Amino acid sequence: MESHSNILDTSLDYLKGVGPIRADLLRKELQLFTYGDLLTYFPLRHIDKTQILRISEIDFQSDYVQVVGKITHIALIGEKRGKRLVAYLQDGTGEIELIWFQGITWIQKVLIEGSTYKVFGKISFFNGKMQISHPEIEASNPNTVESKSHLEPIYPTTEKLKARGINGKLLGKIMESLFLQIQPIHIPENLPQSTVNALRLLSRFEAFRKIHFPEDLNQYQEALRRLKFEELYIAQIRLGLIRMQRHRTSKGFLFKTVGDIFNNFYNTYLPFELTGAQKRVFKEIRQDTARGAQMNRLVQGDVGSGKTIVALLSMLLAADNGFQSCLMAPTEILARQHFQGLSDLLKNLPINIRILTGSTKTKERREIAAGLENGEIHLLVGTHAIIEDKVQFKNLGLAVVDEQHKFGVAQRAKLWKKNILPPHILVMTATPIPRTLAMTAYGDLDYSVIDELPPGRKPILTVHRNEMRRASVMDFIRSEIALGRQAYIIYPLIEESEKLSYEDLMQGYEQVKSYFPEPKYLISMVHGRQTPEEKETNMQRFVTGNTQIMVSTTVIEVGVNVPNASVMVIESTEKFGLSQLHQLRGRVGRGSEKSYCILITGSKLSNDARERIKIMCDTNDGFKIAEKDLELRGPGDIEGTRQSGALNFKIASIVEDKAILEVAKQYAESLLEEDEQLIQPENQPLKIFLATQKGKTGWSKIS
Ligand code: ADP
Ligand code: MG
Repeated sequence: MESHSNILDTSLDYLKGVGPIRADLLRKELQLFTYGDLLTYFPLRHIDKTQILRISEIDFQSDYVQVVGKITHIALIGEKRGKRLVAYLQDGTGEIELIWFQGITWIQKVLIEGSTYKVFGKISFFNGKMQISHPEIEASNPNTVESKSHLEPIYPTTEKLKARGINGKLLGKIMESLFLQIQPIHIPENLPQSTVNALRLLSRFEAFRKIHFPEDLNQYQEALRRLKFEELYIAQIRLGLIRMQRHRTSKGFLFKTVGDIFNNFYNTYLPFELTGAQKRVFKEIRQDTARGAQMNRLVQGDVGSGKTIVALLSMLLAADNGFQSCLMAPTEILARQHFQGLSDLLKNLPINIRILTGSTKTKERREIAAGLENGEIHLLVGTHAIIEDKVQFKNLGLAVVDEQHKFGVAQRAKLWKKNILPPHILVMTATPIPRTLAMTAYGDLDYSVIDELPPGRKPILTVHRNEMRRASVMDFIRSEIALGRQAYIIYPLIEESEKLSYEDLMQGYEQVKSYFPEPKYLISMVHGRQTPEEKETNMQRFVTGNTQIMVSTTVIEVGVNVPNASVMVIESTEKFGLSQLHQLRGRVGRGSEKSYCILITGSKLSNDARERIKIMCDTNDGFKIAEKDLELRGPGDIEGTRQSGALNFKIASIVEDKAILEVAKQYAESLLEEDEQLIQPENQPLKIFLATQKGKTGWSKIS
């Protein structure tokens, strides 16, 4: 049995029509090593090469074209690196330039002025002229009749490969010779037959054959559907197995009882009624921690949906059961604010809460270390300083990671080692995650959604203003300040070391000062180059209402809570991503007043920037914004998922194949429900496939 599948591991050196030299090029240029790699080197599309276009029919919509014409003239143009060979091809309806940058000598030798050629390639327009660079070209033989329409695969290739004769056409030939070598038995079915039947999927072998060599477009679509489904389904099975395995085998601390601390807080000090969503999510956490297995839960919710209180209730539950907990925040400012807020809420309860950050002084650090080790400290709030190896707990039972995307995978993994059993882990996102992303990138975690905002929130009014109208924006801020409110003005400072944007910020600050002169107005400024003390002082002055305006970079992006602030002005909005804008906007609208978000831009905007701004003005719903963000940027750029490897789908896309993903998840879930151990005969192909694929994927636990 194994020998059959091994043929796919054969080096391309041995494939007929390849040989060592081409194999080497394919390795270097396309990372294709084996038969199996080649098999999954999918065509970009197919074209019907019996179709020949007239040059006059080609327009801006055209992509790959095939034409037949006479070469009227050949010229060598340019010098050194700009040197290129141009051949002018005419078919009586128009002219196309054929261009070669490499392999010129050879092409010069074979092309004959006045002869007729069949030419295939990707059309481009340059200075109003139509061009094909490095076309496939062959002498046109009027005697061959190609009557039957058939689809030829077009493979992506590189200029270098084309110059060495490995063009799309040759790749097609190589692929044909691959299919002469392999049989259905080499690509056995890996899905349960009932699933294949129910969804009317092509068999695995057929799908691979037809994605390369379909007879018509419909077959190609069917091949695509089968392979996309398989990829997403296998991923869901894998994630599901990891999750179930953890539920079954990972030992975790038991939070048996809801005790006095929790009840006392809940009945007496909880400042509001929980929303339905908060109650539901807490219940899920309660169930997770009462099972004896380790909890690994992602809680996602929109800005302001009240994730903190859910975390606090969970920490009180830990305390009732004799465990310590910690809450990690991504910035010092946010850690301090959490510490302040939680201390206030807990002031009448027997809970000892402390804060540990990078700027905690040595003496205090020692005190905290002692308190953690002897168990006097129940709850530790802080930055990543918490996960340093030196920080040891007596009995850590729960670790909460706030605003998850700022932490790396490795950092979170360190939390696991803080007790004899790994503590329960609660990860809270800064903004919602698109559903498809949650299902794939975080699919090995359990996840909860807080999909309800606390009552009485007034929607924030968001508008877009050109920078020419900055003066009127400042007038508006003045009127809000006159009503006793405060305002943020945010500048893009992407990296703390970026000198240019630092200067922008300083210039902006001077400008704001000229609109809002002292002593009538006072301004706070916070940016990444300040010491933690400076940041803290400036922040505190704004929190207490001493200053009316906060000029800042995105260091205040996440979490910061100043309910009296009612205006958020964002400068150079075009430089920000959607989720960042939504996060920033979430700094206002936290009190009872109507709030405003003003997006300032220059007049030249890319289409993407325009679209980002439009969606910001159109909706306050973080879930909608997250979906749009994924659509605009693609999954590779979504923060926190870049390293996960979970999104390296070969053929499926979580943006375009949402519907297939949903079906794959459903089928995967019901299979695992019925036969988690993959014991049933029908599930053997899947089991064997998973075993052979082991180690080939990059799934990793994220916390
Ligand atoms: P986020 O989910 O963005 O972290 P927070 O936990 O900071 O949101 O909560 C935002 C604000 O809403 C806080 O001032 C908090 O006290 C308040 N809040 C949370 N839950 C409720 C609720 N159920 N009813 C009223 N206010 C709430
Ligand atoms: Mg928060």
